[in-house]
Amino acid sequence: MVLDPTVWLDVPQEVSTGTLPGWERVDELVREAHARYADEVSGEVADYIPVLAAVDPELFGLAVIEVGGGIHDAGDALHAFSIQSISKMFVYALAIQEHGHERVREIVGVNNTGLAFNSVVALELNDGHPRNPMVNAGAIATTALMPGATAVEQWERVREGLSAFAGRPLSLDGEVYASEAGSNERNRALGWLLRSYGRLAGDPDEIVDVYTRQCALSVTAHDLAVMGATLADGGVNPVTGERVVSADVCRDTLAVVAASGLYERSGDWLFEIGLPAKSGVSGGLVAVSPGKGAVAGFSPRLDEAGNSIRSQMAIGHLSRSLGLNLFASAPAPAHAGEARVSSASEGERS
Ligand code: GLN
Repeated sequence: MVLDPTVWLDVPQEVSTGTLPGWERVDELVREAHARYADEVSGEVADYIPVLAAVDPELFGLAVIEVGGGIHDAGDALHAFSIQSISKMFVYALAIQEHGHERVREIVGVNNTGLAFNSVVALELNDGHPRNPMVNAGAIATTALMPGATAVEQWERVREGLSAFAGRPLSLDGEVYASEAGSNERNRALGWLLRSYGRLAGDPDEIVDVYTRQCALSVTAHDLAVMGATLADGGVNPVTGERVVSADVCRDTLAVVAASGLYERSGDWLFEIGLPAKSGVSGGLVAVSPGKGAVAGFSPRLDEAGNSIRSQMAIGHLSRSLGLNLFASAPAPAHAGEARVSSASEGERS
């Protein structure tokens, strides 16, 4: 099922004014969006990671964090779940912060694969060069860039870095980690394939283990909104005030997230919603509005590409009602006048 945009066609497409409406209005719109999709049941929960199949599919949280620090939590916004693929965007940001734009660009590409997130074919078709860091092959290659003399140190760096984005110490969900570590043959195959092409330094099994741990970090929709808002705020966490990465790193990361954050559905998403966003198979989704804040959803039922359906709906709704779509504009009043004059004079000429 491709996202059906008619679910929010009655919501006026507000155009960005450069800032969010006041706190009260944002809060009202978040509550409205949460209530509107409360009964939505389409999609299926992920079952390829055994423990994820057992999650309550009714859970539904929505959160907005403003760059000014304003907080809006609705429904199950404080329910904990594993971050999964959403970790990829923050580890990528940490990698660019550490190694710089050029070096990371050489190791992992920035174009969409057009294929599933765990595709082996995508890697084979590109001479073993991972096309982007938002799919598993590219994410494993990105995790390998984390500084540290050992896998344990690299894991610590990932955990600390993602905790700084969240503004609180994040911990591993041991049950999710064990379940995924016992069923991640495909990711290990990707690690070894990268290695066979000479594109992974270090032991593939150890790197995939760090990657598996990063995916099992426990977060809430509220945390994801804080993490996303840090990327919206030039790299400064708007809740703690701590600088986590540079503004250049945020720009690079959000560009890559826009192209590939929802895998092969990224074009559909950008066309309908117009924001960089990243999804994960446990049902999380975070969209970032540069200079304004971030919107995060959590709802476990997914589309075929592995993106939370209800989170897409609620965030799509808020993109319209909060005026977040990066591509939406209206003529500036002065220019609107000129346009009218010139079309009228053309009319007179003909
Ligand atoms: N840990 C998951 C995996 O590697 C993450 C995938 C996802 O969230 N799409 O398969």
